[in-house]
Amino acid sequence: MKTPLQVYNSLTREKETFTPLVEGRIGMYVCGPTVYNDVHLGNCRTFMSFDIIYRYLLYLGYKVRYVRNITDVGHLLDDGEDRILKGARLDQLEPMEVVQKYTNGFHDIMRVFNALPPSIEPRATGHIIDQIEMVQAILDSGYAYLANGSVYFDTLKFAKEKDVYGKLSGRVVEDLLAESRENLKNQDEKRHPADFALWMKASPEHIMRWNSPWSVGFPGWHLECSAMSTKYLGKTFDIHGGGNDLKFPHHENEVAQNFTACGCAPANYWLHTNMLLMNGRKMSKSDGNTISPEELFTGNSPHVSKGYSPMVIRFFVLQSHYRSTLDLSDEAMQAAEKGYRRLMEANKNLQKMTPAAGAKAGELDQEIVDLMDQAFDEMNDDFNTPRALARLFELASRINSLKDGHLPMQEVSAETLERLQKVFHNFIFDIFGLLDENTAESNGEASSLDTVMQLVIDIRQQARANKDWATSDMIRDALAAAKIQLKDGKDGTDWTKG
Ligand code: AMP
Ligand code: ZN
Repeated sequence: MKTPLQVYNSLTREKETFTPLVEGRIGMYVCGPTVYNDVHLGNCRTFMSFDIIYRYLLYLGYKVRYVRNITDVGHLLDDGEDRILKGARLDQLEPMEVVQKYTNGFHDIMRVFNALPPSIEPRATGHIIDQIEMVQAILDSGYAYLANGSVYFDTLKFAKEKDVYGKLSGRVVEDLLAESRENLKNQDEKRHPADFALWMKASPEHIMRWNSPWSVGFPGWHLECSAMSTKYLGKTFDIHGGGNDLKFPHHENEVAQNFTACGCAPANYWLHTNMLLMNGRKMSKSDGNTISPEELFTGNSPHVSKGYSPMVIRFFVLQSHYRSTLDLSDEAMQAAEKGYRRLMEANKNLQKMTPAAGAKAGELDQEIVDLMDQAFDEMNDDFNTPRALARLFELASRINSLKDGHLPMQEVSAETLERLQKVFHNFIFDIFGLLDENTAESNGEASSLDTVMQLVIDIRQQARANKDWATSDMIRDALAAAKIQLKDGKDGTDWTKG
């Protein structure tokens, strides 16, 4: 019997039966990337996990408005520099060129991983007026103050008067003193180190700046998600998601802003994904424990012995629950590759099967029906993809035995076989969002190998335009090792595999 959908709510730290605010409809907001450099695989893990959640909600028949923002202003580094401005300085580009370049790159990668685009993808810089209005509402509520043209949230006052702050992240305000990620230069303007900026007055060299009632400046990082989620999903909506490193301060501060500006908490259910590790350690650029999607596709990295396709990586993500850490290693990728192929092979065999003449439901029929129901139960248990996959593999072994004649087709009714074919297809392609990389055409879209090759060719062309021969040669050599030849012609670069 199918159980109703249960989700683990980070706010209550419990699994709860999911009930949307409006029957049949779901509003879901997920914090998107800060587009100042290339997304890394950790980011991809989080966005793929929410893609699977989104796909499953759609599969259940909900109309989902999925909002995922692009952070293109206000997300400061520890030294107070805006990430986008740092990107512009390093790449010698206009800030909006940086934003466009890495937004395009992010979209390319998400397409390669076959992630569905969100319903709305708002940018922080496109919502400055909404953010100014929200700052004013928080000032009017008495939980913000003005200092030298900047506006700060009065965290201490809010924490003392309302029993809200710290609930999501499980922190107490006194413990926050040492952990504030705000601009250290302006620390003395704040009444308390845990106060955070809603609006920052721009220094003369800060080029991303807008007029406001308080100063020419820019919005604080946390504000954009409060303003844009409220605008597109209402004051209260169903699901708010992001990586668990965003729980504090970002999400905690979002709750505080919504509470004071709108009088209520933004989301009923908070969903947080866990981190991607590599060889047991958190993936991080600063200590070199990182691998880019391109390096993993081509195998051009000391961390892997060969390249792995986008769908193998997606399968690897499916093999762990979104709330568990996921550890990337060469062995884990090889296992994922085998698993992905076995699943695709079983599906191919299954889709070719026809019912036996006079087949009648026997014990085997019941086993198959139970396994299909269990696969859905696993998904209804907080989107447990690894356990749903395990049920599909139990089905796959039945399918292979049926094909080889080790199990009797007579025991599987035509009705069950037809349902199995549909369920298997739905799980693999619609819910898990995998593509069959062996068929050039999958679901009417270009194969992911075509898409990834276009990306690699574009990167190589860019490298050549910049006279970066080392990168260009490295790409050619890595492709040659994977038996992929590039042919440069008048109309661009073509590729062949053989
Ligand atoms: P950012 O661009 O840093 O704001 O991150 C975009 C999303 O990726 C956020 O939801 C982060 O929580 C998530 N994220 C960052 N690093 C990792 C990681 N190593 N594993 C999984 N998710 C991550
Ligand atoms: Zn956010």
